Amino acid sequence: MIFIDQEKKQILSNNCLNCQDEFFQPPNRLFPKVGCCSYSPTFYLLEIANICIDNPSFFMNSILKHPKAETFAYSIKVHANVHPTYQQTSQEHLSKLEKDDLKLSYSTCQYFDNGCSLDPSYKNAVCRTFICMTIENSLDEKHKKLLHKWTKTFSKEEMDFQVKHETKLKQRGINLIETPAKVIKYFQELKD
Ligand code: SF4
Ligand code: SF4
Repeated sequence: MIFIDQEKKQILSNNCLNCQDEFFQPPNRLFPKVGCCSYSPTFYLLEIANICIDNPSFFMNSILKHPKAETFAYSIKVHANVHPTYQQTSQEHLSKLEKDDLKLSYSTCQYFDNGCSLDPSYKNAVCRTFICMTIENSLDEKHKKLLHKWTKTFSKEEMDFQVKHETKLKQRGINLIETPAKVIKYFQELKD
């Protein structure tokens, strides 16, 4: 079953408390179950704006300056933590896709701490809407339609915000790589 939280713009499922999706199982019993939170999230301008308005020091210290952050002009990807034992796995006969899947099974998102540690408004649309095929296949038609409708709605909001504010930031000649303090100020002024 899924629950659409329209206020916080996210889709939730109780099934995630004990993830049964075959693709997202840990490599062995020693690893904790993190389900699809093996992901490396990218923060787009919508969530960057929310964080800059709400908690700029968290943005600076835990996202922009995160040791695993890869900063682009208008987004930031924070790479997941890959457990060191991944390096000991045999990969000789694996395709690129199989290697990526294996690496994912040894990975944990930097913001995972017995569940997501981020406020929903700090999470990108994928993190707020991803529902695996195991859950999706168990839904009736009505809930499948709701899932698709709200996934599209929340993703579109993120994309529209990105296009609008990327254009404005480019017009001002500011970006997250060269002038992050000006980007923070730009978003903080949006709330006034
Ligand atoms: S959405 Fe699916 S894969 Fe992700 S944690 Fe929930 S059950 Fe697991
Ligand atoms: S940001 Fe949160 S929801 Fe997204 S992958 Fe990380 S822990 Fe999971």
